[in-house]
Amino acid sequence: MQNNPNTTLVTPIAPIATTTHGGRAKCLQRLSRLDLPVPTTVALSFDAVHDIANGHLPDIEAILGEFPQDALLCVRPSSEDPDWGGPSAILNIGMNDARYEVLCATLGTDAASALFTRFVQSYAIHVDRLDPDMFDDVTGEGPGALQQVLQAYEVEQEIPFPTTRAEQLAGVLKSMARAWEGTSARLLRQAKGAPADAGLGLVVQQMAYGVGQGECGSGVLQLVSSKTGLPQITGRYLRQSQGRDALLGDASLFISRDPRGPSLEECVPDCFAQLVEHARLMRTRLREEMQVEFTIENGELHILDGVRVARSSRAAVRIAVQLARDKVIPIQDALMRIEPGTLNELLHRQVDRHAKRDVLGTGIAASPGAATGKLVFTATEAQASAARDEDCILVRRETSPEDIRGMHAAKAIITERGGITSHAAVIGRGIGLPCVVGVGDIRFQTRKSQLLTKDGRVIPAGETVTVDGTNGVILLGAPEMQEAALDDAFQDLMDWADAERDIGIRANADTPADAQTARNFAAQGIGLCRTEHMFFEPGRLTVMREMIFAETSDDRRAVLERLLPMQRTDFVQLFKIMQGQPVCIRLFDPPLHEFLPTDRDGQHGLADALGLPLSDVIRRVEAMVEYNPMLGLRGVRLGVTVPEIYEMQARAIFEATIEASRDGDPVEPEIMIPLVSAKREVELVKSRIDAIAAAVRTEKGTDFTFRLGVMVETPRAALRAGDIAQHCSFLSFGTNDLTQMTYGLSRDDAGRFMSDYVRQEVFDEDPFHSLDIDGVGELLTLGAQRGRTSRPGITLSLCGEHGGDPESIAFCRAAGFDYVSCSPFRVPVARLAAAQLAIGHKIQ
Ligand code: PEP
Ligand code: MG
Repeated sequence: MQNNPNTTLVTPIAPIATTTHGGRAKCLQRLSRLDLPVPTTVALSFDAVHDIANGHLPDIEAILGEFPQDALLCVRPSSEDPDWGGPSAILNIGMNDARYEVLCATLGTDAASALFTRFVQSYAIHVDRLDPDMFDDVTGEGPGALQQVLQAYEVEQEIPFPTTRAEQLAGVLKSMARAWEGTSARLLRQAKGAPADAGLGLVVQQMAYGVGQGECGSGVLQLVSSKTGLPQITGRYLRQSQGRDALLGDASLFISRDPRGPSLEECVPDCFAQLVEHARLMRTRLREEMQVEFTIENGELHILDGVRVARSSRAAVRIAVQLARDKVIPIQDALMRIEPGTLNELLHRQVDRHAKRDVLGTGIAASPGAATGKLVFTATEAQASAARDEDCILVRRETSPEDIRGMHAAKAIITERGGITSHAAVIGRGIGLPCVVGVGDIRFQTRKSQLLTKDGRVIPAGETVTVDGTNGVILLGAPEMQEAALDDAFQDLMDWADAERDIGIRANADTPADAQTARNFAAQGIGLCRTEHMFFEPGRLTVMREMIFAETSDDRRAVLERLLPMQRTDFVQLFKIMQGQPVCIRLFDPPLHEFLPTDRDGQHGLADALGLPLSDVIRRVEAMVEYNPMLGLRGVRLGVTVPEIYEMQARAIFEATIEASRDGDPVEPEIMIPLVSAKREVELVKSRIDAIAAAVRTEKGTDFTFRLGVMVETPRAALRAGDIAQHCSFLSFGTNDLTQMTYGLSRDDAGRFMSDYVRQEVFDEDPFHSLDIDGVGELLTLGAQRGRTSRPGITLSLCGEHGGDPESIAFCRAAGFDYVSCSPFRVPVARLAAAQLAIGHKIQ
């Protein structure tokens, strides 16, 4: 049997691989190579187990021949990835009356009875699939209880409990093999990422009893904390126990010295010392933090297994980084071990994984992190709460610029409508505020200031709720939280990522605060500054509205003169914070509906500012309402029809450039024209901007350079990128609008039915979240090719929300883009994802 690839004795040289025998079998082989005291083990391959499920048993006698005749055995699953699960382990195979007699003499009657009783019960439940209730009437312990379970078995099965080791082992193998092939197990593991044809291996191991005379027991030990990843010897040990029982009860001992009670370290110091030594050896030789599963039998230590230490995201980073620092693994390995998305859990507070959750509703996870507060239903109430130092959660049907102050005052936002690129979502991600949008399963009764949940609960204003923006869930109450952890391990990981990656990462940042966050996360510049967002602040919002409402050129010019210094100050701040790194400023792209006052307060404010009767303002608001504002007077269309606005912005940018370059690194601003669909639009805007640049140079007597680019976010711009590229030095793909227009799918409304579409597999994923490679991706490829052919060396980038999504970054990298730009808080995720792509590319 030694070299039979399907049924193999585990030795240092046996033909065992994770891909054929599973992770557990491979790990046991590695432990045997380290000369650790591992009991005799036989590994069954995926093929062998598949054959068993189809009715072809391996040579059971040959397997048993590897073990002493009187040994009890256990069988445990060994899938390729431990996270894919598998059937429960069955211990003590081989128990029968004869073995019982012998064990009564050697271990004592109680211990022998406990072993036998436990075996009969688990055999009945897991192998014969009998109802666990059948043992409800069993009372007491010892031989009495054993007789009762044997009798209950016989009554239920109408045959006595199987007596031979071969018969029992065959039964266990068959039931485990069939369970793995069953539909529910298959679906469960596929949900965890297992392929449809994932195999199961099994290991048959000689039992170390853990019960009996002398020091006996079982337990687990690991060298680091699963929560933080910091060095801390943790685990449990339970005397007179088997398997992982030590983790269940209060009776177990601590592993190392602990003020709360007795420990293995004090009670069995020799075994403790050996265990720590074994765990250290496993760490360096298996190149992973391992949890050691052990049994002590009459004072002698046995190592039954080693499993990867369970870990929080924070611990995963710390463990990988420490292994690399200790030169146990290469830095590239450490980078590949962290799933980029998990960094979100380090960047924001999170609901503790183990906390109890009372779910009120779910929606789209629009901005990660979690926060608790009292429900408020208006931005004003949010500000009032903040003034009282009270944490609040802002609830809106959808948000508009009028809510910005309230959003800043709140700890999290929930909206009934919207998708991943809606106003609340974009702002939430920008300022690092947890946000769930498109919450379809809660009724928002905003007039009554209450929420109505699907299960009929009424949640009024003032109730404490928690928003879990990472998972898109709204919870009642205040579950336990885990704090953000931007520690030295995170910092090292990020530095290593930067040394590996070969695509630039910038941030979308609109305000000095955003820019500072971008800088803190080491973004290589700003890839998109949405200038209209600079006017969301209440004081400025009215001026912006005055400008939109101005009817004559003179009126407009007067308002623009007030806006100019505000913009100049904004740009000077951005340039100074970014310290010579590129800053790409997008000219105004206000979908007008986002700026029109929708409520009485806003309309009043505007009437005051314009000195007009309220009725006039209402009439003019109504006159400006567009049927399709996202396809209306937006972006460059405003620039072409009302040129003074872009002229003012260009002047503000140039004057700020001169000012910021005076005592800092020279600034070369990038100016980006939004929503272009025709070459002529670019020509018109370019000639006006060039004229302003010339005027400012003359007025100030100072020279400067700038780069002009186009945002490719209409399908036509992608198709005509060749013409457009002739007039600009960069193209930045705005995949939010490009997705919206390619699908003809409103980015603000898609949230309502997106989950249905994904559930029914119309879309694999929300295309606003993960780039649609087949459709939108083809436009990107075409646009990039045509742009490059017409203007070799043109800078190409992506600045839609997809810039923070690892799969979309992979697409951009493969298409040869220079950089991607994403929300500041997604920059670390993008840096790691980009590093993994570069490393993966080198390995191939
Ligand atoms: C886009 O459309 O991809 C984009 C980045 O611009 P916005 O989200 O501001 O429309
Ligand atoms: Mg856009």
